[in-house]
Amino acid sequence: MKRRDFIRMSAVAAAGMAAGGSLMACTNRQTERRKVKSGSRMELSFTPLLLQMRHAFNISGFSRNETPSILVKITYDGITGYGEGGLPPYMTGQNHETVQQFLSKIDLGQFSDPFQLEDILSYVDNIEAGLTCPKSAVDIALHDLIGKLLDVPVWQLFGYNASKTPDTSFTIGIDTEEVVRQKTLEAAPYNIVKVKLGVDESTDKKLVETVRSVTDKPLLVDANQGWKEKGLAIDMIHWLAEHNVLMVEQPMPKEVLDDMAWVTERSPLPTYADESCQRLTDVPRLHGVFNGINIKLIKCTGLYEARKMIAAAEALGMKIMIGCTSETSCAVSAAAQLAPRMDFADLDGNLLIANDQFDGMKIVDGKITLSDRPGIGILPI
Ligand code: MG
Repeated sequence: MKRRDFIRMSAVAAAGMAAGGSLMACTNRQTERRKVKSGSRMELSFTPLLLQMRHAFNISGFSRNETPSILVKITYDGITGYGEGGLPPYMTGQNHETVQQFLSKIDLGQFSDPFQLEDILSYVDNIEAGLTCPKSAVDIALHDLIGKLLDVPVWQLFGYNASKTPDTSFTIGIDTEEVVRQKTLEAAPYNIVKVKLGVDESTDKKLVETVRSVTDKPLLVDANQGWKEKGLAIDMIHWLAEHNVLMVEQPMPKEVLDDMAWVTERSPLPTYADESCQRLTDVPRLHGVFNGINIKLIKCTGLYEARKMIAAAEALGMKIMIGCTSETSCAVSAAAQLAPRMDFADLDGNLLIANDQFDGMKIVDGKITLSDRPGIGILPI
């Protein structure tokens, strides 16, 4: 075994022991608590939210001024866990009507307590295919509840080191030169700017040049499947590599994996799968096609499966980033619990909306900062 691999494996083992230790300590505390209040039942409720965007948000293929979202509450033993799943238009078939119908089918009465996480989430996932956004809201609410019952932050429950969080990027959508310039100025507090490209070669280059007229900060680029030809994709990536770009997300349509592998093989920048990577089962087939994956809780049904995706990607030597959609500080703070394990984080969804419902994860000097509050660390405003 190479020395580097040995160190990596030792680190993984140490992290596993740390996580096991916290979980063991937690289980003892939880057992004591259950002795005090047996007979409590979990109750699930939900509320549809309509989030107002600060600016119209344009990406390759979509434009929107507001985004629906679903808030889930699970109460047990007098304590409430909160969860949320944004419902952006690209999550086809997931809207206020369909997700409320789905959530109405969930009967948590068959489970004794939220610590039966694996059984509960397996049951919820098998009620109906798809509907990953409300499934993620349930997953987050359970994790928040467990953390609050044990009085520990979720990141600590996972055994993560809160000081290892990366900077978050701040996203600039496709827009007029004037708006792009204005949004780039607004991105001043952040150390990394993410730009949405994928319109056509001249529009994309113009947008990057407009951003570059305001800032020389490193950029993440998301083409949102916009470059349809592999020749265009690789030419754009070479051009971007000369403009202090750190990575490129989803350059080509999600289904063209052979062409994408061709691009990745020649790319001077790491490529990340977003639309091509939804759930755990996608990770192995993307090995060799992309250098990394973008995990979003609304795609993969929540924190429980996201942690399995992290393990799979690491086993395959792939890079990992965490993203979100336009969501309140509830869903964004949940995603932030995984930030210590990420190469990049794109967790600005709460900053892009005007009617946040929670106080949660904070960005300090551009860096994601996890709090010591229990659960996912949020308080209703
Ligand atoms: Mg993306």
